[in-house]
Amino acid sequence: MSTTIARDAVTTFSLSAIEQLSGLNKLIDPDVLQAINRPKRVIVVDIPLRLDSGKFVTFQGYRVQHNDARGPFKGGLRYHPDVDMDEARTLAHLMTLKTAVVNIPFGGGKGGIACDPKQLSQRELERLTRNFTNLLGENIGPRIDIPAPDVNTNSQVMAWIVDEYSKTHGQSWGVVTGKPLEIGGSLGRDEATGRGVMYAVREAVREKNLDLSKCRVIFQGFGNVASYGARLIEQELGAKVIGLSTSQGAIYSPRGFDLLSAEAHYRQTRGLKGFADVAWMTNEELLEQECDILIPAALGNAITVNNAKNVKAQIVVEGANDCTDAAADEILAKRGVFVVPDILANAGGVIVSYFEWVQNLNNHYWSVDEVRTELERIMVAAYSQVSAVAKERQLTMREASYIVAIERVAKAMILRGY
Ligand code: NAD
Repeated sequence: MSTTIARDAVTTFSLSAIEQLSGLNKLIDPDVLQAINRPKRVIVVDIPLRLDSGKFVTFQGYRVQHNDARGPFKGGLRYHPDVDMDEARTLAHLMTLKTAVVNIPFGGGKGGIACDPKQLSQRELERLTRNFTNLLGENIGPRIDIPAPDVNTNSQVMAWIVDEYSKTHGQSWGVVTGKPLEIGGSLGRDEATGRGVMYAVREAVREKNLDLSKCRVIFQGFGNVASYGARLIEQELGAKVIGLSTSQGAIYSPRGFDLLSAEAHYRQTRGLKGFADVAWMTNEELLEQECDILIPAALGNAITVNNAKNVKAQIVVEGANDCTDAAADEILAKRGVFVVPDILANAGGVIVSYFEWVQNLNNHYWSVDEVRTELERIMVAAYSQVSAVAKERQLTMREASYIVAIERVAKAMILRGY
């Protein structure tokens, strides 16, 4: 996963702005709106670690439990030197909104360890993860808070957490999601975010009355989200991918290229440079090329005031979190560019995490077709609910999705007597 996520993801679209433009404060008690803005619990721990060399060090670990009015806290754990409380708070808040907008029974959480995992051996990483799990203690659990992989954490890290937690709680697959298939993972999790992005593209194209078979699509990125997204958009929607990128640079051809050959080139060379018959350019240039649909799926803050006026796409579908800053968002809206926001467009991952948790609690496992059918049902329902609110209240899809999410969280808080 990308390592740069801007700190102001939530302030990009502040709660007070939403209240003003939507009249939400007339619908919902302002005290509840204020409460939604603040995390319920913030956990900071000092994690001891004995290095392989015998030296003793400590690392700071965080878990922000933002809101659990609609279900257990849910969100990733990242291992990165830049991890801190501010970042975890912002991302936990976004998770509360994301789980609410797609209406799955979770709240929002986020956390991680401020460390550089590249400097640690596998055994050190395992000990660090186990010590962190013990320090989180009763604060995590299948019905309390369910972490998942994020930047620099993966299914192996989740496997260590399950093992450590299960030592004191009995076998507890449901304590984390994103696990290996052998120990309670779900089929279809790898492709889930890209597949969800594909459904968001399909619904947006329908809404804008475009012809999918004529749509030309640029992805920024070629990691998990972009590689699955690109393949599915070609195979299942019949649209044409005409641009892709990695951190080194981008390939673009207005006529498109053979995606399977681009994938093979990427596997062989670990990059896209040198791929035949395409233009090679920077990531910034790629965002400004002619296309119908632009899908930032790499980093935060990809679309800014500097390039928003040059975006040629009619539709932007946000695969990456917080990839459009507030000023750029305004420019795109004024120019009539239709934006499907991150909390809706990239929710496929957390939706299939929800399926994983359901399967773990029932000890009954689904086929990949069942996972895909349910994912499509939830994505399409969420898209049409947001779209209806946008039309009814004359809002952008971002504004509408925040309002749908906040109303759901507020109602749950009021019903539970917060
Ligand atoms: P990934 O690590 O698999 O891929 C990231 C891509 O970004 C790679 O292609 C990499 O080359 C590219 N990249 C890295 N640095 C770059 C730079 N400086 N300029 C341009 N490109 C750069 O990550 P991913 O899982 O595909 O996630 C991509 C985005 O989607 C992130 O913002 C992530 O938070 C978001 N997201 C991912 C998921 C998921 O399930 N994977 C779910 C929701 C949101």
